[in-house]
Order: sequence, then structure tokens, then C-alpha cells
Amino acid sequence: IINAAPTVEEACALVKSYQSQGNFVCLVGGIIEQLKEANYKTGFNVRVFPIGENISSVCHAVSAACRTAMIFGNIQPGDKKGLQEYTFNRFRAFVNAFAPLDEKTVACGAGAIYYGFPVVTNDMDYTPSVPKSLIKQPKVEEFNATSLEARDIKIKITNVDIPVAFASAFEGEIIRRGDMQVEFDGSRVDCAELVHTCEMTEIEDHKITVVGPEVDDMELGSKNSIAYVVKVAGKNMQSDFEPVIERKFHNYINCIEGVYHTGQRDMQRIRISKDAFAAGFKIKHIGEVLYSQVKNEFDAVVDKCEVVIYTDPAECTRIRHEVAIPIFNKRDDRLATLTDESVDVYYSCILCQAFSPSHVCVVTPERLGLCGAVSWLDAKATHQLDPNGPCQEITKERVIDEELGAYEDVNEAVQKYSQGALEKVTLYSIMQDPMTSCGCFECICGIEPFSNGVVIANREYAGMTPLGMTFPEMASMTGGGVQTPGFMGHGKHFIGSKKFMKAEGGIERIVWMPKELKEFVADRLNATAKELYGIDNFTDMIGDETVAEDPETLVAFLT
Ligand code: SF4
Repeated sequence: IINAAPTVEEACALVKSYQSQGNFVCLVGGIIEQLKEANYKTGFNVRVFPIGENISSVCHAVSAACRTAMIFGNIQPGDKKGLQEYTFNRFRAFVNAFAPLDEKTVACGAGAIYYGFPVVTNDMDYTPSVPKSLIKQPKVEEFNATSLEARDIKIKITNVDIPVAFASAFEGEIIRRGDMQVEFDGSRVDCAELVHTCEMTEIEDHKITVVGPEVDDMELGSKNSIAYVVKVAGKNMQSDFEPVIERKFHNYINCIEGVYHTGQRDMQRIRISKDAFAAGFKIKHIGEVLYSQVKNEFDAVVDKCEVVIYTDPAECTRIRHEVAIPIFNKRDDRLATLTDESVDVYYSCILCQAFSPSHVCVVTPERLGLCGAVSWLDAKATHQLDPNGPCQEITKERVIDEELGAYEDVNEAVQKYSQGALEKVTLYSIMQDPMTSCGCFECICGIEPFSNGVVIANREYAGMTPLGMTFPEMASMTGGGVQTPGFMGHGKHFIGSKKFMKAEGGIERIVWMPKELKEFVADRLNATAKELYGIDNFTDMIGDETVAEDPETLVAFLT
């Protein structure tokens, strides 16, 4: 959005309308001051981002579009036509420019139109209109609908009966201690979140029960217990779907304006802000959100849903230890016993093709999707929930090379699902036909020639690696759905897998990773090293940024 709106109220209302639809808003010029004046919360985490006062700062928004095309779409620098096609077809952006428009703004608008981003303006005097590209709209309250229509964006609106907004734009919102009314913290007190499959007769649809105190009864700034059990029933419901539904709770609760959620299972943490509380938000509204979203997203398997939220500390202790933990343990035992050899099929995942058209993940029990969010059981459940959806079965009957993880069936599947862009992939090699990376990898590993080992960096790590590259620099050569032998994106949990780089020697080739990542994977990685090589405390032998950020120091540490 460029320039100041006619009034502060109209500026806030327009921004809010996009935010509540989950659109990312960049602000340039006078509108930034208007939002400041209204104390409107802005920032990357709430998807309302002030880029700069001057019209030239609009180049940062264009830069984001170009980088997306290069990272996810594998558009090469200089490929003007390819870039234009990508931004037109895949980047659903548009511009709202408030009157009066000067020549510079008009020139920038022409640049946006070139990329396929229509401009909507209320400047009725200066500009000629161009159908579908430069659109005059005198009513600010119509900007939103006009823009979405011009860019052919259709938004599925779910109305949730709560006193605050509900949209993906609030997913990254952080509630600081000073802004917090109350919190629930599974690392300090008993908490749990659970989906439980029941018989149809055991459930009263849309019944929300709170057992224990409501937010009003809790002390300001206090830490409390919470356990919510979402009971579901349906003739197609299976207990394998429970963790898939549970994993979505994080997104659902985070989409509530003024509510923040991290963690899962019995380690979740929730904060409710003072603003949300003042707007009338209560514990029962968490139930309302869980009910509506589960029914909305999982309507193929959930016919009835009831939510019970416990805030009574004794009940939370009972639910956590007597109900939830035994169920979690049973599920973990099931996944731990699954190996690539013990199953008949793997699964493809092409969810990321919206941005990375030729990328296909092959998900196996010992190799989860590179985003870290799709395990083999999840992919299986996703396939059952939506048989024509993003996860399809891949047989593994025609083995080419077991050591590499090469199969004719897998090659045929990636050819099919990448529309011919890929010919073959191996599952366990980063040198020979490695799996492609879309751009949302949790980690990237790359061969470090000096030590002949492999360096891993995770997305959160902002420093330098011994490869002489930062994570974003490694990402720029790894993403885009192309194969880059020597570099590969992967999930964090894959690091502790016996199949990690199996063809090149496995986990013993790991020489460096950031300290935080090392601590995160230590338990699994050490257990795998013990099993494979009989070594204790394997992670102590791996370098990190506290011992080396360059190859020479790293080799000195290793030898
Ligand atoms: S990165 Fe994750 S969501 Fe994307 S295609 Fe792979 S498994 Fe699917």
C-alpha cells in the first residue's frame, strides 16, 4: 500500500481487511505514519511491514518477488521472461496506491504491472485506467474486493465465533511478558493437547466444556495448567489421523489475534494478551477455534467433534499422566519400529509445488519431508484423508541400488509428479541424484572439501559456517526444485537417521553444525552413533560455531 489513505481510520481498516485474510502487507509512504498514529501493531510477525517513507523503497517488495522466483522457481538471473512468467502466474501480489500519484509513483506502478501485479488507485484525475492492470476505485472500502478480483484471488473465509480476529496473519504474533494477561506452560506445570477418537454416540457435536477456572479467575501474569481433549468421531476416522489433527492445533491457536502458542503434546505454551482479554477472549474460545477448524479442515473424517478444556490443576495432572502420555508413548513406539525396509510403499509430497513447481519430496519412515513437518505416517494419513491430494503412494518393488536408495518405481514417480522436470532421485545420497529442495527445508547439508566431511546449518542459525557461507547463501544454491550434488535440504530429525547420507558413509561424515542444532538432535544422533559404531557422546566430536567458523580451525579441532 503506497501513500496515506484519506483518513487514519480508512488506513487501519484496509490494512486489517488484508491482514484478516492472511495477506502480507507492505507499506510505503504516508500510511506508515497513519498506522503509527493509531498505535497499529506492525512487523514481520503480524504480516504488516513498513518498508520505507520514500517511494523508492518499494524496490524491497520487488526484490522479495524476484528472490522468491529465484529460490523457489529456479529462475536464473537475467531470465527476464521467466521471471515475468513466474511473478505473473505464482506471485499473487497487487498494489494499492492512494491519491495523489506523482510521476515517480506512476513509474513504479508501471514496473509492478510489468510483473503482473495490478495497481488499484483512488486518484481519479491523473491516471488513465488500463483494464485489469491500472484500476480506478474511488471508494477505499472497495479496495480490498477490487484488488482480490483483479488478481483472481479467492479466499475461503471461516467465521469463528470469537471476540478477536482469526487469520493466518497473526500466526507469527509474539506476546511479550508485559503484554500478557495469563500464560499456560507445559514445561512448568501439567499441560496437554490431545485428539481422541470416540464412538459417535459418545460425542455431542459442538459441545465445549471448561473444567476449572476461566481467564477472569486467574491472576494477572500467572502461569497456569491447561489440557484440552478434542474428541472426534466419524465413520472414516482412524487413530492414525489423531497426531495429524493435533499438529494443526499450533496453527489454529496461533491464528487467534492476541494468543500465542508454541510446542505440542504436553509441552505446549500458550499466552493470552491483555488486549485479547480486554476484548472478551476466554478459555472457551480456544475450544470454539479448535472445534470450527477441525470440522472445517477434516470434514472428510470428522463427523462430530466435542472439546473439553481442563484448567483445574488436578484434572490437568490426571489428563497429562494418565491419558495423554500413555497415548503419546504408544504412537512413538509405533513410529520408532518403522524402517524403510519394513514398509511396502513410500509417499510423494508435492505440497510445495505452489512455489517450487518441479519439487517432489519422497517421504519414507526414516526420512521425513525436508520441511520437518511431514513424517511417513503423516503422509500416509494425508493420502487416506485426500486420495487425490498431495501425498501419493510410491511402490518400492524394483530396486536399482539399495545402498543409494535408488528404485525404478521412485524414479517413475518423481518423473510423473515433477511433470518430467526430474528423471531420477536417490534417497540416501547427497552426491548422486540427491533429492530436490523446494526452499522450506529446516536444514541444509553441504560437503566441506577441506575435512571431506559434511556441514549442516539450520534456518535459525544466522552466523557463518566453515563452508564460507551463511544459511541464506547455502539456501540460494540449494532451493528451486533442482538437484545440486553436494548440497541438500532436509528436516532436523533426518540428522539422527541411519539413512542420513548412508551412501556416503552416514552420520560419521558430519563434522560441523550450529550448537543449538547439535543440542536439539543430540539424543537421537548419539543413540544412532552408539548403535552403528559403538561410540558414546558422538555429538561432542562434531564442531560448532564456538570452536570453528572456518575450515582450517575445524580440521584442527577434528584431528
Ligand atoms: S517440504 Fe514438506 S510440505 Fe513441502 S513437499 Fe516436502 S514434505 Fe511436502
